[in-house]
Amino acid sequence: MNDNNFYKAEGHKERNPALSEDDPHSTGLLFAQRNRMPRAVGLACLFLPLAGALVSQPVAGIWWVILVLWAFVWPHLAWQLAVRASDPHACETFNLKTDAIMAGVWIGLMGANMLPSLALAMMVFITTMGAGGPRLCLAGIVLTLLSCLVTLQLSETAVNPASSSLILCLTVPVLLLYPLLFSWVSYRNVTRLEEHKRLLRVMSIRDGMTGVYNRRHWEILLREAFENCRRQQRMATLLLIDVDHFKTINDTWGHDVGDEAIIAVTRHLQLTLRGSDIIGRFGGDEFAIIMCGTPPENAISAMSRVHDRLETFRLPGTPQLTLRISVGVAPLTGEMTHYREWLKAADLALYKAKKAGRSRTEVAA
Ligand code: GH3
Ligand code: MG
Repeated sequence: MNDNNFYKAEGHKERNPALSEDDPHSTGLLFAQRNRMPRAVGLACLFLPLAGALVSQPVAGIWWVILVLWAFVWPHLAWQLAVRASDPHACETFNLKTDAIMAGVWIGLMGANMLPSLALAMMVFITTMGAGGPRLCLAGIVLTLLSCLVTLQLSETAVNPASSSLILCLTVPVLLLYPLLFSWVSYRNVTRLEEHKRLLRVMSIRDGMTGVYNRRHWEILLREAFENCRRQQRMATLLLIDVDHFKTINDTWGHDVGDEAIIAVTRHLQLTLRGSDIIGRFGGDEFAIIMCGTPPENAISAMSRVHDRLETFRLPGTPQLTLRISVGVAPLTGEMTHYREWLKAADLALYKAKKAGRSRTEVAA
């Protein structure tokens, strides 16, 4: 198992690698992708209300063609432009501004027919606010207003805000559904971001290969345990564990078997120890465990169970290999003023175990 496997097992869903959040291009594509569906559904739903309002206006035939293209082709074209752009984020921002300009054009051509104009404005404002915050939303409002005024001027369309009951029936579903659709897309994004945040937290505190705490986080927990146990005058035991002759395992069977051995030792520790014991991978083939509320005798007997289990355990494919560990045990004492002294005591005990022939547990003097 490598780092990625552990994080995948932690619940990270593999997404399209082209749409990972790792570089600005992918982030830009994700940004464009978020607008893709609301734009496609929103514009398609607006086709009938707009067509209904335009029927009563003297618009040239070309505008009907543009309306069909805008409602049904533009959303897909906008997405393709973003996909092909060197800077998809800038391209999608441009697309959103084009949406705003086109909304103004349609409002102008409809003579500001109230309900479809409202639906168009709502769509532009919600989308630009959701995509780029107040700044982009303000830009959207200004562009919509300007293009509306220019269209009214150029087309000499008379302003007539009254909406017929047919237009009302066609527009109300859009007014209701579009905010719902946009909220749902936003909700999905928030959920995805939360999952991403959770995964980042896991990655920052866990060792990628074994899933136990990494050294940095484990030392934070050690400092907390040291201070709490001292304050509460609670007994506590610290253990440092190192796999014996691990280099030989790597050299003889290869690094893959070495990795499997590290994972196997971790699993044996997890299976044998209590859930409250704090296991960390200290680096390489070295592990460290904080046992709060545990006297050294209990820690030693727990370790002798680990020794026994490892003695009979075999990795698949290497029946000749017996995994053995050396353990240094250091009880927390009143003389210790810093957690590093505690760690040093466990390290000396581990050194003693190595010197005394390995595959054993030694307690700090
Ligand atoms: P000793 O009995 O004295 O502990 O001897 P040793 O051979 O185990 O020596 P040491 O503990 O110093 O060996 C650690 C080795 O572990 C060195 C490094 O090549 C190897 N190693 C460190 N991290 C990994 C890893 O993630 N995977 C594998 N396969 N090997 C690793
Ligand atoms: Mg070793």
